[in-house]
Amino acid sequence: MTAAPLLEVRNLRVEFPTRRGTLVAIDDVSFSIAPGEVLGVVGESGAGKSLTGAAIIGLLEPPGRIAGGEILLSGRRIDDLPAEAMRKVRGREIGAIFQDPLTSLNPLYTIGRQLVETITLHLGLGHAQARARAIELLQATGIPAAEARIDHYPHQFSGGMRQRVVIALALAANPKLVVADEPTTALDVSIQAQIIALLDRLCREHGTAVMLVTHDMGVIAEVADRVAVMYAGRLAEIGPVADVIHRPQHPYTAGLMGSIPSISDERDRLAQIDGAMPRLDAIPRGCAFHPRCPQAMPVCRERRPELREAGASLAACWLHDPAAAPAAEAC
Ligand code: SF4
Repeated sequence: MTAAPLLEVRNLRVEFPTRRGTLVAIDDVSFSIAPGEVLGVVGESGAGKSLTGAAIIGLLEPPGRIAGGEILLSGRRIDDLPAEAMRKVRGREIGAIFQDPLTSLNPLYTIGRQLVETITLHLGLGHAQARARAIELLQATGIPAAEARIDHYPHQFSGGMRQRVVIALALAANPKLVVADEPTTALDVSIQAQIIALLDRLCREHGTAVMLVTHDMGVIAEVADRVAVMYAGRLAEIGPVADVIHRPQHPYTAGLMGSIPSISDERDRLAQIDGAMPRLDAIPRGCAFHPRCPQAMPVCRERRPELREAGASLAACWLHDPAAAPAAEAC
């Protein structure tokens, strides 16, 4: 990557204090996103991908908290900002799209009011200009008859149309980064691909970087430039999308990529990996994936692998340490 990173996540650690001790949900996760880049973040549920997104946008649900590391946006630290300052960053510099559009929309206000408020607050435009921009945004997201629909309430839209409105809202202040967490999972299969294509097109037109959290490798294959694969709160692998898909360097990624269905395919993506992701209070020592790994070696049960170069990617796997596995070959 040549451009200076837009987003840098350095050694992020997220903890959940409980009565029985502290659970580490994100452990030493580092990655960056360049301006205009789409980074896909994948993994099974419980891998920590949504929590990583929530930490970046400052919406970790208590008692979850950032317990270590730094998050920088355009070189400025944002993980330690007071709530009000972070709220401004969230509207102006980072847009957020969640699985359920109703999370982002106030059911009591017309979508026009919500868009106009966001635009006037963050861009300082007058009401008439803000309303004109809101209509443009709705048109760009494919809302038919935007001049009339702008005065409708969220419940008057279908799920797919609501998610288009949320995309318009997320892009309203021209953010540098959009964090999209499973943006199509709640939608009908028939419109998932349209929404992903729309998000991808609009962000590329605006030069907006995207962190796209999803369990759906089909979506990743369609739109991501790079892919980060998470497992049990850590990065298992990160690299260019073609390499991660076609030349996976971590056995977990290899299992994940075993079959990439089409976006409309509802099969279990992880059918090829036996076992389940460990619970946070039962993460095995050594490599957390070792109980499920077909290539596990003795060292994997004892010592945790760090990310190291593996082909064009980085992978946290002892197979790529010549000292630990002299005879082993990449997956
Ligand atoms: Fe498998 Fe060992 Fe690599 Fe973990 S470190 S993925 S157990 S080979």
